[in-house]
This record gives sequence, structure tokens and C-alpha cells, in this order.
Amino acid sequence: MNHRPSLQQAEWVVVIHGGAGNITNETLDSLAAKRYREALNRALLHGRDVLDSGGSALDVVEQVIIYMEDCPLFNAGRGAVFTALGINELDASIMDGLTGNAGAIAGVSNIRNPIKAARLVMEQSPHVMLSGRGAEEFAEEKGLPTADTTWFRTEERWKSYLRAKEKLDKNGTVGVVCLDKSGNLAAGTSTGGMNMKAYGRIGDSPVIGAGTYADNNTCAVSCTGHGEYFIRNVVAYDISARMKYLKQSLREATDTVVYGVLKQQKATGGLIAVDKNGNIAMPYNTSGMFRGFIKSDGTIKVMIFGDE
Ligand code: ASP
Repeated sequence: MNHRPSLQQAEWVVVIHGGAGNITNETLDSLAAKRYREALNRALLHGRDVLDSGGSALDVVEQVIIYMEDCPLFNAGRGAVFTALGINELDASIMDGLTGNAGAIAGVSNIRNPIKAARLVMEQSPHVMLSGRGAEEFAEEKGLPTADTTWFRTEERWKSYLRAKEKLDKNGTVGVVCLDKSGNLAAGTSTGGMNMKAYGRIGDSPVIGAGTYADNNTCAVSCTGHGEYFIRNVVAYDISARMKYLKQSLREATDTVVYGVLKQQKATGGLIAVDKNGNIAMPYNTSGMFRGFIKSDGTIKVMIFGDE
């Protein structure tokens, strides 16, 4: 059913995001911006290294997200935002564009790297999504490292939680999409969710089709933004469906959804996507989105605001 790429294809692309939102020169000082740029750059180089050592698109997605989950700058794994009750509840998902397999976990509080657990759900369980305590027990049984609340909690996020009580939003979800040397596509997303979310709330990031989607016939997509709208509009799948059924280009499909469909609903956010030919799209309708890409021709680029 899925497109099997020709073996001659040698080009690869890795695209990442570190969240979209109210990111401006006022909310992000130059030192902080430098730190984000450096972290994004390192994440991209890590993706290249995984490919160089023979990793697949799926391996790149998992490994680069692990790197970003362990980096306290991002709202995923360590550094995740807090729920209204002041705890971390993490969501993640991964999808393989070759097989159409997918895995996700939602609402977990003690798995150090949620994306690893999502991949294990995909590969070592008969299910697509596990949540809460069941997901945690599954990860423990599989021997994944756990972490207590002090691992996830960073002073920055805790302060932002306290500020959020007086209303201030926070971003930093991470996502990776990849086209590997064999022409396979994969996508993954990991997040702490939205700041001050209700206890038990699950966003789009672990929902296959909403926050994450990959199909070798079309594209791989990872979203960030106001999750409720991304779920209602089944955003990641909609991009793929527009390409598949309407024959839209990646650019047309992503622009229509981000600047048209979502904007009309005042839904803030963005996404990263790569198609089966290596075309990249990184649209967002917020003031900024942490993002970047690296390609087999050596191009590497990291951006936060406009086309800097
Ligand atoms: N989409 C994520 C959620 O709604 C949050 C984000 O990307 O900033 O949980």
C-alpha cells in the first residue's frame, strides 16, 4: 500500500521545531535566543550523525527528540510546563511513513523520554496509544528510565507556572520530521502540553493525524500550537490528505491550513513538514517558531522569527 522508495535516492532532510507562540524580541532576550539557536543547531547535527551512522528516518525522529526532551529549554521531557495542579503531564507520538505504524503516550508523569515510550508502544504493543498509569507501567516493564518530578522541573518553567497563574502562555513543544536516504518518511512530536492545562487534559501532540502524521506517499508533519484546534482540524492528516486527494503541493497544503483554516479560527500555531521529494515547509501564524533544517547537501539553518 505504501510507496516504496527507489534505492537510488541519496538525499535526506531533517526538519525540527521547538514550539511556536508569542516569541518576540521582548519575550526572548538575545542571550536566550542564542541559547535556543545553539540547541537547535546541535539537535540538527545530532540528526545528521544518526543518519551518517546508518539510522533510519524513524531513528532520527526518536534520537533528535530525545535530545530535545533532555534539553531544559524546550517544553518536552525535562523543562516541560506544568498543569494547573503544578505537575508535569507529558504527551508524545511517533509515526513511520513506510509502514503506517504509529505509537503514542499521553498524560505520563515519570517517563524520562516520552518519545522512547511512544516508539515502544508502536513496536512492542498491539496498541497505538497508552495513557496515564498504564503507559507508565508499560514503559517501566520495558525498562525505560523513569524520572521523578525534580527531573522535569526547571526553575524557569516553575516561575513561568507561577506567572501563568497571572496569565502568560508558554511554548517549546518539540517535533522532528525526516526523509532518510532510502526515501522513508517519519514524524514525531513531544510536549509538556499547554501551560496551566487542566489535570488530565490531552492535546494534539500524541494524537496521530492531529499533531503527528507520516506517509511515504505524501509527507511527514509535526505540529505545535493550540492543541484543541489542531485536534478539531485533524491538521497533520489534513496536510497529507490535501496532497493525496487534491494533489496540492506541500507548500499549498501547509499554507492553506496554517494561514487559512487555522487563522480563520484564530487558532495559533505552526508546523514543520517534509514531502517525499525533500521539499520543506515550516509555516506558523504566531510571532515566532523555533525551527531549523539540515540537508544532505550540507545546508543547515536555524530560525526563530522571520527569514533571518
Ligand atoms: N500543541 C501542544 C498542545 O496543545 C502545545 C504546543 O505545541 O505548544 O499540547
